[in-house]
Amino acid sequence: AGFYERLQKYILTPAQLKENGFPEFVPGEPDTVTMKKSDTFLQNQSNVRTCVRCATRFLISDNGKTRCQHHWGRSFRNSDFYLSPPEPFSGCGCRSRSSGCVIAECHVYEDNKFTDVHGYVCTTEGTGVEEEPGVYALDCEMVFTTAGSELAKVTVVDQDLKVVYDKVVKPGNRVINHNTRFSGLTEKDLRGVTTSLQDVQDDLLRLFNDKTILVGHSLDQDLLLVHRTVVDTTVVFPHRMGPPYKKGLKKLCEDYLGKRIQSKVSGHDSAEDASACMELMLKKVY
Ligand SMILES: [Zn+2]
Ligand SMILES: [Zn+2]
Repeated sequence: AGFYERLQKYILTPAQLKENGFPEFVPGEPDTVTMKKSDTFLQNQSNVRTCVRCATRFLISDNGKTRCQHHWGRSFRNSDFYLSPPEPFSGCGCRSRSSGCVIAECHVYEDNKFTDVHGYVCTTEGTGVEEEPGVYALDCEMVFTTAGSELAKVTVVDQDLKVVYDKVVKPGNRVINHNTRFSGLTEKDLRGVTTSLQDVQDDLLRLFNDKTILVGHSLDQDLLLVHRTVVDTTVVFPHRMGPPYKKGLKKLCEDYLGKRIQSKVSGHDSAEDASACMELMLKKVY
């Protein structure tokens, strides 16, 4: 069987999509989605945010008045800071959870992931006859803006690990932190960029149809895309403590591919991350 067929058994079920925070349209309201909220988000009042780096709760109007002391190597991307497993942070290697190893000027938050429920698009039905739905791995890089966490780069690789789409995206709001350590993006990379999130959505809807298998690590709502044929490496390769804990992509690559990724000081490389997800699945099924 081909790769597409072999991946079938790893495609998330509707219940798994829901449990893992994937958005789904609200019945009767094709423009509006709903998704599982993080506990951190649910605890905040409207004018309060929780920093996703240091877990400080603060009034939005006070951001920048206290510094953000955090561990940059948070072991996985999750809005619930306290879900980090009680082991060294995978990136910075610190053992203590209390005192952070990096200090930044302001806190960052991503509540907008749960409040921005409009603007979603949905992959459309493939014709099935002439078109091969395909398997693609996808990685998104985010930056922090005055609105929260916003898309700043998308990379798609095919099953031969060839980059078929790679775009830097202009965030809709003013950037307050480029999140360079993770995004690999600097102020310079975003300068002059005019590609919008909507442009990316249009491009991806041409590249994928609803049968296309999208592979990724914690593929959630970054793209404002509703897609239900998903293979998520955080689910295929679960953390030994079970959900909601997730193994980082870096650790998965060390354990299953014997390979080091995300070791660049210049930050993560979205093509490297997307390829790593594809390689993990190739390794799993062949
Ligand atoms: Zn902070
Ligand atoms: Zn640290």
